[in-house]
Amino acid sequence: MSDIYPNLLQPLDLGFTELKNRVLMGSMHTGLEDRFWNIHKFARYFAERAEGGVGLMVTGGFSPNLVGQLAPLASTMNNRATALMHRHVTGAVHEAGGKICMQILHAGRYGYQPLIVSASATKAPISPFKARALSSKGVERQINDFVKAAKLAQFAGYDGVEVMGSEGYFINQFLCERTNKRTDKWGGPYENRMRLPVEIVRRMREAVGPDFIIIYRLSMLDLVEGGQTWDQIVTLGKAIEQAGATIINTGIGWHEARVPTIVTSVPRGGFADVTAKFYGEVGIPVCTTNRINTPEKGEEILAAGKADMISMARPLLADSEFVRKAEQGRSDEINTCIACNQACLDHAFQARRASCLVNPRACHETELVLTVAPVARRVAVVGAGPAGLAAATTAAKRGHKVTLFDADDQIGGQFNYAKRIPGKEEFYETLRYYQRQIELLEIELKLGTRVDAGTLAGQGFDDVIIATGVKPRTPGIDGINHPKVLGYLDVLRHNKPVGDTVAVIGAGGIGFDVSEFLTHDFGHQPEGEQVSVSDWQAEWGVNPDFEGPGGLAERQPTPSPRKIYLMQRKTGKVGGGLGKTSGWVHRNSLKHRDVEMLRGCRYERIDDEGLHISVTDKDGKVTESRVLPVDNVVICAGQEPFRELFDELSASGVNAHLIGGADVAEELDAKRAIRQGTEVAAKL
Ligand code: FAD
Ligand code: NAP
Ligand code: SF4
Repeated sequence: MSDIYPNLLQPLDLGFTELKNRVLMGSMHTGLEDRFWNIHKFARYFAERAEGGVGLMVTGGFSPNLVGQLAPLASTMNNRATALMHRHVTGAVHEAGGKICMQILHAGRYGYQPLIVSASATKAPISPFKARALSSKGVERQINDFVKAAKLAQFAGYDGVEVMGSEGYFINQFLCERTNKRTDKWGGPYENRMRLPVEIVRRMREAVGPDFIIIYRLSMLDLVEGGQTWDQIVTLGKAIEQAGATIINTGIGWHEARVPTIVTSVPRGGFADVTAKFYGEVGIPVCTTNRINTPEKGEEILAAGKADMISMARPLLADSEFVRKAEQGRSDEINTCIACNQACLDHAFQARRASCLVNPRACHETELVLTVAPVARRVAVVGAGPAGLAAATTAAKRGHKVTLFDADDQIGGQFNYAKRIPGKEEFYETLRYYQRQIELLEIELKLGTRVDAGTLAGQGFDDVIIATGVKPRTPGIDGINHPKVLGYLDVLRHNKPVGDTVAVIGAGGIGFDVSEFLTHDFGHQPEGEQVSVSDWQAEWGVNPDFEGPGGLAERQPTPSPRKIYLMQRKTGKVGGGLGKTSGWVHRNSLKHRDVEMLRGCRYERIDDEGLHISVTDKDGKVTESRVLPVDNVVICAGQEPFRELFDELSASGVNAHLIGGADVAEELDAKRAIRQGTEVAAKL
């Protein structure tokens, strides 16, 4: 047993089988499960994680039938040919010493396809289609299909299944009055509404026999109006145990809930106390989940007796060796998931293959292969932002001799400003990870060195990678040089004082982040420290005792110390370009601190009075002219590439490669910067 994480790394005896530790890799839709021709990629993805030592893994969701599909042609387990193909996956995992369950997910009214069915004829706010109400026979058919899918998973060699009973999907839709208006034995009082999951698990256990894992994902906190009460959840949990489940996993929040559950601003382990409250109500192992991304946090939760297991999904995408590194006392080498959702969930919701912002190899294990270089080259990397860090560490891993330069006295580039934003403290972890890699890989780090062509001359570099990033754009507004105008770097880097009334020009990611920064009083939440779980619950309206329907309470947001106007020229939704799964959280957070969001703005001039604007409608017609009487105007109007060095070096015949913002500033984010840095270095 490990001395460092004695609880997390302790085996778990399930009676008929043993898990080697308490880490469960939670279900995550990657997009690889949707197409049969990706089966070998799917197998390799899981095999790498099994090699990394995780105790048990759960696949992304497979629908038991066509009406339950998430989208047309989405992953389904309903025939033997498909099951046979899955033996590639289970075989690869078992060969690597791992265990894997297949998740059975019936989307119900969350399906993005016209055949969807549910308890009643309702339409979810996140699907354009209205679900058809099932007849009693139709309900029976769904149960049979769940059971058949479990049998097929067993035939495919899986160690078990997870029945998805939470997040607002089909089963959850039967459990709650808001979506179940039935009057037959599947609707009405709670005993009737909970019949569906209990029958599924009971009949499934009969069909698969005793030696097959059945995990039931229990919605312990619906976070929607008309959700289940705590007593109902406990009653269901006990009935699920009686029906034959092996493990109860925690589910938090319907997808349509307006409380964030996994984005980066949710404090670490923010929902572990929900599981803790349930823990002890059943005799079978209970697993907790959501925003647990380090072995330390997992250990702390288990040591406090809040659960038997820890589910981590995205952290295993970010680092397939998470468990191995923890076992070997190398947790400072873990590439930590920063909960940004940018390459995983945002991709899944756009029907794109998932990956990971901090680990572009995720779900591309067979394609982005890092081989040892046939000849070690001398490589200079200029710029230690995300692009340069990824390039330098990838090149060094492959055996090249790397020197990394940065003009700044710290690594990280713009991540040093991102990490200062309240709710983005996880970005510190990426910088810690790269700092450690630089030491381990013996990269020569030259900070405080602004490189020009002369610096590199005569040093014998075979390749020079230019990752010099971006510079903020200065828009041509009348009065742009007025003393009340600040750039976002003045605020986030130089700590210039900012007045009580502020106009932020530009509502992209940085405009939103700067507004968030300015709406916080740092006496309340020290910089770099995550908000406490209780303050966060008050901010978002989560009942601290998880009582009442859905576990909701009235929101009590902390007021902003400043009045902020956040503006864009486009007439569409303010912040419409933010992340699919996180944009609404940013908008909602600012709205509750009374940030005034203005669209269709024309910036006329800036003077002692403030910022003069005209507001236009979607046809470009001016509907209003006003002066915003602000103390400061902060410019967040995008960026331009910073690439003079590349032009200089290319002219002198140096083998120069351009990556990150220095290459293309338009639509740049760290996801592209890190991927491009990794890919360029993978080919050197
Ligand atoms: P940079 O990060 O700009 O790094 C360039 C580096 O090059 C700098 O360290 C600079 O000092 C150095 N340099 C420049 N010229 C020279 C020279 N001549 N010699 C030596 N060194 C030089 N992205 C996301 O994906 N998600 C987010 O949530 C997110 N949040 C953000 C929040 C804020 C407040 C900001 C400002 C940015 C955020 N970003 C985010 C954007 C992200 O940080 C950038 O896309 C990313 O940093 C670009 O990486 P890069 O390596 O190309 O450039
Ligand atoms: P951005 O997303 O491109 O936004 C720039 C903003 O400036 C837009 O609102 C744009 O809107 C406005 N603008 C552009 N040119 C202007 C001009 N000449 N005059 C006035 N306004 C102008 O860029 P960013 O906010 O600087 O962010 C940079 C990158 O970092 C982005 O790609 C973003 O993805 C990434 N980032 C991501 C996050 C995240 O949470 N995922 C957070 C921060 C940053 P109008 O044209 O409508 O005015
Ligand atoms: Fe975590 Fe972001 Fe990677 Fe998703 S993309 S696994 S949230 S770091």
